[in-house]
Amino acid sequence: MKTLKDLTTSGAKVLLRVDFDVPVADGVIQEPFRIEKQKETIGKLLAGGARALMIAHITSVDSFEPLLPELRKIIGREFSFLKKLEDIPTFLAGSESLALLENTRTWPGEKDNDPEFAKQLSTGFDAYVNNAFAVCHRAHASVDAVAKLLPSYAGLLIEEETSQLSQALSAPAEGKFVIMGGAKAETKVPVIRSLLPKAQAILVGGVIANDILKARGEDVQKSIVDENSAELLKGVDLRDPKLLVPDDFVATDNMFLDIGSQSVKAFESALEHAKMIIWNGPMGKFEDARYMNATRAIAEAVIDSGALSIIGGGDTISAVNSLGLLKRYSFVSTGGGAMLAFLTGDQLPGLAALGYDHS
Ligand code: ADP
Ligand code: MG
Repeated sequence: MKTLKDLTTSGAKVLLRVDFDVPVADGVIQEPFRIEKQKETIGKLLAGGARALMIAHITSVDSFEPLLPELRKIIGREFSFLKKLEDIPTFLAGSESLALLENTRTWPGEKDNDPEFAKQLSTGFDAYVNNAFAVCHRAHASVDAVAKLLPSYAGLLIEEETSQLSQALSAPAEGKFVIMGGAKAETKVPVIRSLLPKAQAILVGGVIANDILKARGEDVQKSIVDENSAELLKGVDLRDPKLLVPDDFVATDNMFLDIGSQSVKAFESALEHAKMIIWNGPMGKFEDARYMNATRAIAEAVIDSGALSIIGGGDTISAVNSLGLLKRYSFVSTGGGAMLAFLTGDQLPGLAALGYDHS
């Protein structure tokens, strides 16, 4: 995989895939973490004398336009905004150092990984830099097809993410603990299946714990479960002693909404021996303060263990950020789905397009 060290930046016109896919509510960015993680690569390219067009998608709103003042503030730079693909040649012919193109998902060619769309994006550029780790599990035009049309390089964030996550994967099973919570069995079960033999223990909470208990034939009452979980959990040894499941809960109306204090204690004592912890997914419905306790306790236990800690997932990050703990972990991944796919051992299309060998 070629990186910024291999790119002659001076005078280069760079198509830069950034990650600005942040939650927005009432027109306000709720969590700037992913945007902040782009600053270093943008700064390095511009300081090296490159001109860059940033391309990115956003899912919480249709357009970047109303967010521009906030975006400029967070990245600490002025840049212009290109609403149409036809504005790209004008940018290239000018002298402005930085611009942002409208939400790439405005164009159907993005999700279709359409080579024609990729050509419209990339024509006139000298190089493509991908710094959007969190979309690398998607074969979309701005992460995959464009990489086939230009000399392509990994930005600093992709270098950091791949090096941190592969270090976590290759750490010895002895002392390695995985904590899985949240929902979406489809993305979490493959990680459990793949990491169970490679970890000392996997601790589960959240909806995914309900899924496992249900698959074991236990009564989860009216708790939320993933309808596909039984199918997904086939082939996972649900009685593996390395799989630590909760056995008490905080419940309302017969729904398990947080794991209980006995389970938290058991998890805390398991984590005391950890040398490496990988954590994705809250232990309960943390958005409601009544069901935040286990997530808070686990967030603290991970820090107190003194282990190397790698955490990721949009909701996990907002939970620990609301506790003021985000800076206390060794590494915070910007990837939710991408981090999980990487940990499962999948070849991510966006990384493969950069020549990354995940084996
Ligand atoms: P992340 O974004 O960190 O990967 P997920 O998106 O998988 O996490 O899951 C987070 C969501 O799961 C939150 O909205 C949280 O409220 C919900 N959740 C966790 N545990 C429960 C539970 N026991 N019952 C209902 N919802 C839960
Ligand atoms: Mg989430």
